[in-house]
Amino acid sequence: MIKNIIDELKSNKNLSDEKFKILLNDDTSDEYLFKQADSVRRQIYAADVYLRGLIEITNYCKNGCYYCGIGCENRELKRYRLSKEEILSCCKTGYELGYRTFVLQGGEDIFFTDKKICDIVSAIRKNYKDCAITLSLGEKSKESYTAFFKAGANRYLLRHETAKENHYGKLHPEYLSVKKRKQCLFDLKEIGYQTGSGFMVGSPYQTTENLIEDLRFLQELKPDMIGIGPFIAAKNTKFQNFPNGSLKLTLKLISILRLMFPYALIPATTALGTIAPNGRELGLKAGANVLMPNLSPVKYRNLYALYNNKICTGEEAAECRGCLERRVKNTGYRIVTDVGNVRKAVEELKS
Ligand code: SAH
Repeated sequence: MIKNIIDELKSNKNLSDEKFKILLNDDTSDEYLFKQADSVRRQIYAADVYLRGLIEITNYCKNGCYYCGIGCENRELKRYRLSKEEILSCCKTGYELGYRTFVLQGGEDIFFTDKKICDIVSAIRKNYKDCAITLSLGEKSKESYTAFFKAGANRYLLRHETAKENHYGKLHPEYLSVKKRKQCLFDLKEIGYQTGSGFMVGSPYQTTENLIEDLRFLQELKPDMIGIGPFIAAKNTKFQNFPNGSLKLTLKLISILRLMFPYALIPATTALGTIAPNGRELGLKAGANVLMPNLSPVKYRNLYALYNNKICTGEEAAECRGCLERRVKNTGYRIVTDVGNVRKAVEELKS
């Protein structure tokens, strides 16, 4: 019965809400689901795994999302921001280690004006013409996104977090809205960014219906990249005592996403590696094809404390690279050094 549903998902890239619900709540055929997702990922991407070097440029944030450890309500956290020189030096290290995509991520820090961001982006673009520059700096106006794009940024990551308004309201303060969040995503696509979205699995008050809403929103958005990871409690936040999201459900959703969006770039996230020692390896086996190793200077790493016990805060970038190489190889995949474009995205969507 469940296997039939998985086969249907694989051939139609879609299911009814009822069938999604059955699939999400039944664990009996998980291994079969992972295998089907892996076969689809191998058809399109073979055993290739792309790396995205993550540079956490600031932990200052003007927003107070209830789940996030770097939100403005957290007065206990020491704050930092990287200088332009520090950011460029992270890119240099990353480039030498074979990274061809840099992701500049941060809280919504008003210090980084559009002018400063554009200046940093154009400096990276000038030095690394063969690289993708990805930004993940939260919600901005369409004008700002356009300015960053003109300066040389070509990808943007902005998870929608949860698609349903009432659930969004339980995770965020009243000055943030899912409507605005979604508008930002459509703006990014319109400007021409390769756009990534995604959601947390097991966030407080999340229901199976909410997860199905998330899948439906992604069908509407058609993102190039889809990042999901388990919610993990963060100290000094409103949700510090809530249980973490589950490994099993996250893996299952990775597989479901791979079957729904065969072309998508799907990372096995740091949060997945944090809830289980081999979480990222299991993510790859369930259909993920991207890893996002940390390129931030080690001295600031534990300050980008989105959630508790975040992994990889101690190693230098080069050690991190070696560790990943081994992990990926032992799991039966291979790291490739190129910019890692979406394969067949356009054809898939037209069909
Ligand atoms: N300010 C940027 C970057 C946010 S951090 C933005 O708004 O997009 C990147 C992602 O980390 C978030 O989108 C969120 O999904 C995830 N995250 C934040 N807190 C988390 C937590 N406690 N557990 C798991 N993931 C979390």
